[in-house]
Amino acid sequence: MEKKQFQAESKRLLEMMINSIYTQREIFLRELISNASDAIDKIYYLALTDDKLVFDKDSYYIKVVADKANRTLTIRDTGIGMSKEELENNLGIIAKSGSLAFKKENESKDGHDIIGQFGVGFYSAFMVADVVTVTSKALRGDSAYKWESTGADGYTIEPCEKDSVGTEIVLKIKENTEDDNYDEFLEEYRLKAIIKKYSDFIRYPIKMDVVGK
Ligand code: ADP
Ligand code: MG
Repeated sequence: MEKKQFQAESKRLLEMMINSIYTQREIFLRELISNASDAIDKIYYLALTDDKLVFDKDSYYIKVVADKANRTLTIRDTGIGMSKEELENNLGIIAKSGSLAFKKENESKDGHDIIGQFGVGFYSAFMVADVVTVTSKALRGDSAYKWESTGADGYTIEPCEKDSVGTEIVLKIKENTEDDNYDEFLEEYRLKAIIKKYSDFIRYPIKMDVVGK
C-alpha cells in the first residue's frame, strides 16, 4: 500500500510530539475527547435544521476502552465521522488548531509552553502511542476508511468495514522505558482521573470499559 507523506509542517509538529519530553502527556486524552465531542456537536447542529436527522440523545456518546492484553486504548464516538478526503485533509495537514503558527512566532520557546497553553490536537496521540489507527464512517458517506500512521514517516488510507457512523481511534500504547511509564494510560483509575481533570465539562456521556486485565 502506498504510504503518503505528511505536509512538512505537520511532520514537524508530529516529530515534536513523538520526541516530546513533556511530562503532561496525559493531555492527549483531552484532545481526542474534545475532537469526539466536536464531531457529535456537528450532528447536533445539523439535526437542528434537518428534519430527516433526529438527534436522539441516548445514541450520542464517547466511549473509551482500554485493552491491557493488546496494549490498546480506543476512543470511539458516534459523531459525524470523516470521509476519505476528510481523513486525508484533516489528519494529514495541520489546519485549524493554530498551534504551529504560534510556534513559529515563538521559536525560542520549547514544546512545553506550546503544549500547555494551546490545544495541540490530534497529533498529541503520538506522545503515548507508536501506532495510531483511525477508522471512520461519515454521516454523508457510503463507505468507511481506515487511516493509519506510525508517526513522521507518513500514513496510509484504505477502505474498511464499519457499520455505524462515527470515528474510532485506536492507540497502540508505547512500551514502558526506563524513564517513562505508559502502562498508566491503560489503567482505569488513571483514565478516569484524567477524564475528570480535563473533560468534566463535555456535554455528552463518556463511557469507559477496561478489558483484558
Ligand atoms: P482541531 O480540533 O483544533 O481542529 P485537531 O488536530 O484536534 O484540530 O483535529 C483536526 C481535525 O480532524 C478536526 O478539526 C476534525 O475536522 C478532524 N477530526 C479529528 N478527530 C475527529 C473525530 N473524532 N471525528 C470527526 N472529525 C475529527
Ligand atoms: Mg481538536
